[in-house]
Amino acid sequence: MRVAFVASEAFPFAKVGGLADVVGSLPQALKRLGLEVTIFLPWYWGIEGYYVGEVWFSFAGQREKAGLGHVEHRGVRYVLVGLGDFARERPYGYPDDFRRFARFALATAELVRGFEIVHAHDWQAALLPLLRNLGWFQGRTVYTIHNLAYQGVWNSHEFYAWTGLPGETYYGAGLEHHGSINLMKAGIVNADAVTTVSPRYAWEITTPEGGEGLDGVLRAHQGKLRGILNGLDTEYWNPAADPYLKHPYDADNFAGKALNRKELLAELGLEDRPTLGLVSRFAYQKGIDLVVEAVDGLMDLGVNLAVLGSGDAGLERTFSWLAERLKGRLAYVQGYHEALAHRIYAGSDGFLMPSRFEPCGLAQLIAMRYGTPPIVRAVGGLLDTVQHWETGFMFDTPDVGGVLHGVREFLKHPDRESVAKKAMRKDFSWDGPARAYLALYRELAG
Ligand code: ADP
Repeated sequence: MRVAFVASEAFPFAKVGGLADVVGSLPQALKRLGLEVTIFLPWYWGIEGYYVGEVWFSFAGQREKAGLGHVEHRGVRYVLVGLGDFARERPYGYPDDFRRFARFALATAELVRGFEIVHAHDWQAALLPLLRNLGWFQGRTVYTIHNLAYQGVWNSHEFYAWTGLPGETYYGAGLEHHGSINLMKAGIVNADAVTTVSPRYAWEITTPEGGEGLDGVLRAHQGKLRGILNGLDTEYWNPAADPYLKHPYDADNFAGKALNRKELLAELGLEDRPTLGLVSRFAYQKGIDLVVEAVDGLMDLGVNLAVLGSGDAGLERTFSWLAERLKGRLAYVQGYHEALAHRIYAGSDGFLMPSRFEPCGLAQLIAMRYGTPPIVRAVGGLLDTVQHWETGFMFDTPDVGGVLHGVREFLKHPDRESVAKKAMRKDFSWDGPARAYLALYRELAG
């Protein structure tokens, strides 16, 4: 069986969040089960692939060509789709995001003929199932929702002028949502199977509270929707062999954790107190603003904060200011830093993740793998992966009271080391989830 992944991110080539971790590691787990996956990724600026040819496709009434590159990473083959407007430093955040990913989808649809399964990820690839239904290629399609909050919404006038798709697809193929084009919706409606990244989130998105306006659509397609929990690349995220850490450790040789902790406190200029790590995109979803609101209360409880993140500019400024005001108690590093993220996961005593919603969440899995009990809101994938008082701590409400309650629970536990070790011994690998995907592909391929 030949499987194509189509996605906008894949670690280590392009990463904004958990999508990249999944696309970069699930194919390796599938390979261990004997399945070959080819990943189709935009050829972003800086990715060193070797040129293998080109593909022609139609866009905005013109014939266009995309250069094609190959690169292999840890035994998995990537096809890089070279469109000039991806030669930028980061994947998204530009005014022409929609247009660029529409081009990417149209070009890629020309390349996936011959694959039995085409597995499209998030709105950036959501056109693929619809294009299959229009006969552009033959494979069965799987569409995975990594985050329902980003839907790929645009006006229909430009969409049709760019894609040249028949106008009847507007209503007939589910593109229309409240008078606009909605690619997420089209992915859900047209795919043979829809998955999302945790069982709990699979249910939450069918409710008005969690459905981001698409709960009705999801309820109508519930029969083909299932939640498959994300795994972790446990080779890459491995405190016993992490090149970014000076002191390797695991649950049986735990002493290294305290040494990494000491290094982290020194590096960030923090006093010796229980230190909570936070590594995150600064987005509404993540509830980072709740940490800001709770900061005085957190200081009163006697914890430090080690914060790494970027996104919302207001939150970035606020944390820079707080770090000035609370020297020795709160450290903030702005930006995306792979190595520092590893050091925070390893060196912190707890990990704070007060998400308002969370499709799966990888950060809490990484924290547990590194023996750093996560303090999380009881929602989405966090509910499916953290056991309160056993492997981490949970609170209910997305507000200051909730955050402080979670941290109090953490501080109250008489034996946090046993929680840390129990968390480390849990299996968060891809082995189980990869089997679930394989079973789904087999079901579809018949
Ligand atoms: P999301 O995909 O919603 O951003 P996840 O918890 O699923 O959240 O995945 C986040 C991933 O991105 C984790 O691997 C986390 O370590 C990483 N990450 C987030 N922010 C940063 C940052 N500023 N620097 C380094 N890694 C980060």
